[in-house]
Amino acid sequence: MSRTFTRRDVLKATAALAAAPAFPALSASGDYDVAIVGAGAAGIAAGRRIAQTGKSYVILEAGARAGGRIASTTLASGAVYDRGANRFSAPARNPLVAIARAERLKFYEPSPGRRLYVGAREARDGEYDDFTASLRRANRTIAAVAELGRDIAAARALPELGDWRGTVAFVLGPLTAGKDLEEVSTVDLSRAEDRPDDVMLTDGTDALLAAATKPLAIELNTAVQRVDMGGRGRVELGTSRGTLTARTVIVTASTNVLASDRLRFSPSLPAQVVAALGRLSLGTYERAIFELPGNPFRFGANERIIFKTDNAKAIMLHTRVGGSDLVYADLAGRFGRELANAGGAAVAGFIEDEFSERFGGGTRQALGKIELTRWSKEPWVQGGFSAAAPGAALSRRALMEPINDRVFLAGEAAHETLWGTVAGAGLSGERAANAALRYLGPAPQEPPPPKPGKRS
Ligand SMILES: Cc1cc2nc3c(=O)[nH]c(=O)nc-3n(C[C@H](O)[C@H](O)[C@H](O)COP(=O)(O)OP(=O)(O)OC[C@H]3O[C@@H](n4cnc5c(N)ncnc54)[C@H](O)[C@@H]3O)c2cc1C
Repeated sequence: MSRTFTRRDVLKATAALAAAPAFPALSASGDYDVAIVGAGAAGIAAGRRIAQTGKSYVILEAGARAGGRIASTTLASGAVYDRGANRFSAPARNPLVAIARAERLKFYEPSPGRRLYVGAREARDGEYDDFTASLRRANRTIAAVAELGRDIAAARALPELGDWRGTVAFVLGPLTAGKDLEEVSTVDLSRAEDRPDDVMLTDGTDALLAAATKPLAIELNTAVQRVDMGGRGRVELGTSRGTLTARTVIVTASTNVLASDRLRFSPSLPAQVVAALGRLSLGTYERAIFELPGNPFRFGANERIIFKTDNAKAIMLHTRVGGSDLVYADLAGRFGRELANAGGAAVAGFIEDEFSERFGGGTRQALGKIELTRWSKEPWVQGGFSAAAPGAALSRRALMEPINDRVFLAGEAAHETLWGTVAGAGLSGERAANAALRYLGPAPQEPPPPKPGKRS
């Protein structure tokens, strides 16, 4: 039986789940100025923006934790690893970085480029030069094709790259877009911003999530199943814990979740939005995590290593993350998907073989237990991040249009140049929040003073 949230329900749940009480107070009728679906980077940034204005709002999160594709877990050894985002790009504009800075969290700059290995050794200077020149040439050619308005598969736009083709295709396809270049739009790829100035958090992403969500009213374990836009002046949301209404709604679920039947809209989403969701599906980006005590292969801290390849069976390593023994192997694109689908033992076997071949015997013992993420199997995410299919780069704009004037989509897919990143997700959340605020009318000049006993 469905029921309406009451203030008491919400306060009880929040008290049980979080150390800080909800802010601002939720209205007694379960009716809000803004309801936000999802507490990932986009939902958090949207919530922070709305909370500043004193409008009533609630964030509804299907999962048992906030953060979405920013997530960390602890290994049996006690080491904390990132299952999702750990490098924060566009730091000068990234709303999540701004929150972390305001909370005085510390950042460091990881090594910006990638190390390249050829066989068992690091590339020589000449090989680095050849690879960098090939990558630049591929980027230039893809951009030139896109500028001509030819939104075709990026693979078709690649110039002759000789024996660097496989490596360049791996960097621009699976690593950048989570998909192979045959499935990626030239226009979308050429619009993606360079990210030379990524930063990482000294205290880890959990510290960021704790600080960013502390003042927010978030209802965890609350899956929104139905968004009914048919009512007058109000949108009704049917959730796994009852119904509520809101004057505006911001939906930050991934394109794959929106395209599935987990979240239904009534009336249906406009045809151009439905088409856009299908053409902006999530690629694969999974991570295998393990420890290398004693650093037997003398890896540098916070570096990323790729290997010259002539086929699609490629992975990227993040070595000695945060200076620890942790190593991540990122699995992306079609090969990453097939390997991850083959299961943890197959992934471990592949990594062991790669390491033995490149770094010699004794690797199997050194590697220990390997953890594997399964983002594509997580029901409220269903993949890595969005990449436009050939011909579909303009689809991102369809996600930025208001639906029935008062429902706004946000999330990494709704950013044209920082798609696939926390920065893009956060900025799209702020954009949607501003649009909702415009719809609601002028905000008060000053945020209201905090109520006694409430945190601001
Ligand atoms: C392995 C991996 C590594 C990555 N590394 C980086 C990196 O280093 N740097 C970087 O910038 N980006 C990285 N990314 C991408 C980045 O994580 C995402 O672009 C970003 O976090 C997406 O944020 P979002 O808010 O758009 O979506 P999400 O994080 O998916 O948040 C959406 C939230 O909505 C919730 N939700 C969905 N449907 C419903 C519903 N019906 N009701 C209620 N709640 C719902 C979900 O549970 C989720 O919490 C990585 C991604 C992966 C998978």
